[in-house]
Amino acid sequence: MGERKHLQVYPAGRKEIKMKATILYIEDNDQNFYLVSFILSAKGYEVIRARDGEEGIETAARCKADLILLDIQLPLMDGYAVARALRSNPELASTPIVALTSYAMAGDREKALEAGCTGYIEKPINPDSFVAQIEQHLS
Ligand code: MN
Repeated sequence: MGERKHLQVYPAGRKEIKMKATILYIEDNDQNFYLVSFILSAKGYEVIRARDGEEGIETAARCKADLILLDIQLPLMDGYAVARALRSNPELASTPIVALTSYAMAGDREKALEAGCTGYIEKPINPDSFVAQIEQHLS
């Protein structure tokens, strides 16, 4: 029984996981980044990080991510402004942008969609449904 538990924590064959898609995650908070990155990496996604809006916009133009995860509470430039800037780049016109926000307030979702986001997830994320929520935007 103890051994089975051990195997679940350290899954065998990890190196055989194939890279599925690249996700750019624009997030200033280390803990949030590590949690999301851990969950997505375990499913085979490659996760690239940017720590603020400016870095995110620059990285997005360069890295051709399959999806952009965007924290709304960012320093200097909030996520809404970042989403509008990303959408102003024609090369990113069809890239899904999923907003992540804590302290969700009425109207946040509409604001995110208006700014050009394709989806909206509230923090704290639910680790059991998070990947499915992301995959809805990766068809
Ligand atoms: Mn933040």
